[in-house]
Amino acid sequence: MNMRKLGLKECCAETQSLVSGEGPNSARVMLVGQNPGIEEERQGRPFVGRAGKYLTTILEKNGLNRRDLYITNIVKCRTPQNRKPTSKEIEDCLPVLLEEIDKIKPELIVLLGNVARNTPRLDNINYIETYHPAAARRFPRFRRKFEADIARIKKEYQD
Ligand code: URA
Repeated sequence: MNMRKLGLKECCAETQSLVSGEGPNSARVMLVGQNPGIEEERQGRPFVGRAGKYLTTILEKNGLNRRDLYITNIVKCRTPQNRKPTSKEIEDCLPVLLEEIDKIKPELIVLLGNVARNTPRLDNINYIETYHPAAARRFPRFRRKFEADIARIKKEYQD
């Protein structure tokens, strides 16, 4: 999805590097993260750095291929020093996420971490709130719920 073409100049207006979501239009499941990091910015793809590799591994461990899911972020660009996105940055980028949801029409949206929880809850879509893969990777107590939530995707949506 070409964000600039959508005419949404406010989202990530300060940066040249906008990282779009990726995945098939037919995806039943959408994963929403926080915002891209340096590796995502470099490659122009979401979740391809350390947290992304962990996410991909856990998806695969549960019989899921990331290419079957739509993977995106609530904020579409890297922040200075990877700080948490501000409320304004989240608000400015929300129209882009809403466009993606409207286009993909997922049955399930998995919210990865607290920042992603700012995603509006829409009718006829199920939501799972779980930990961000970066937190799940580091802390065993978060990992258990995170992995159980990923297992639910396979059981409830991809079997
Ligand atoms: N963390 C995120 O929230 N999104 C990415 O794309 C990468 C790391």
